[in-house]
Amino acid sequence: MEEKCGKILDELARLYPDAAPALRFASPYQLLVAVILSAQCTDERVNKVTAELFKQHGTPQTMLALTQEQLEKYIYSCGFYHSKAKHILSATRDIEEKFGGEVPCRHELLKTLAGVGQKTANVVYAVAFGGDAIAVDTHVFRVSNRLGIAAGNTPDKVEKGLNAAIPKQLWSKAHHYLIYHGRRVCHSQKPDCENCTLNKWCDYYASVK
Ligand code: SF4
Repeated sequence: MEEKCGKILDELARLYPDAAPALRFASPYQLLVAVILSAQCTDERVNKVTAELFKQHGTPQTMLALTQEQLEKYIYSCGFYHSKAKHILSATRDIEEKFGGEVPCRHELLKTLAGVGQKTANVVYAVAFGGDAIAVDTHVFRVSNRLGIAAGNTPDKVEKGLNAAIPKQLWSKAHHYLIYHGRRVCHSQKPDCENCTLNKWCDYYASVK
């Protein structure tokens, strides 16, 4: 498995040398808000919404000037706007009251914020603070299972499998590689297996060929 995983990571690095987060942000706080908004929503849509929102409300202090209803109007098009607004304002209050206005950089503290689960904490920890973590979103979950590098029926199991299969210093990069591959080649409905340069190592391809 170690050898297979190494070959897959080498190929992903060759395919996506510029793999990077698609969400736009100028601070750990803005990234946190963007990641909360990105649940069940595209990064493109979130970037449009945050471009407007962060003009006036890009810090914890300025965000708390908004009522829940006012925030909902900004983020309406991201979907689930009621619960997302509630989580953003609760997390922001925690940041102000418990962490002196700064997003905490420790993973276990990030998870104490409202609306911040394992995936969101992993993204903020890795992208904003340079920590080692693999956030398992829908693309990472699907591609990892298909390739057979981390099989599991829950994001938690897949994360544990990836942590075991991939060297720690590559966790954050691997997260972006797998997202790129899921978006560009290994689509949920019609994976382009014939043209996928990972197919010689892929369990799913071997099973359907
Ligand atoms: S061979 Fe097919 S299923 Fe496997 S990673 Fe490539 S596109 Fe996905």
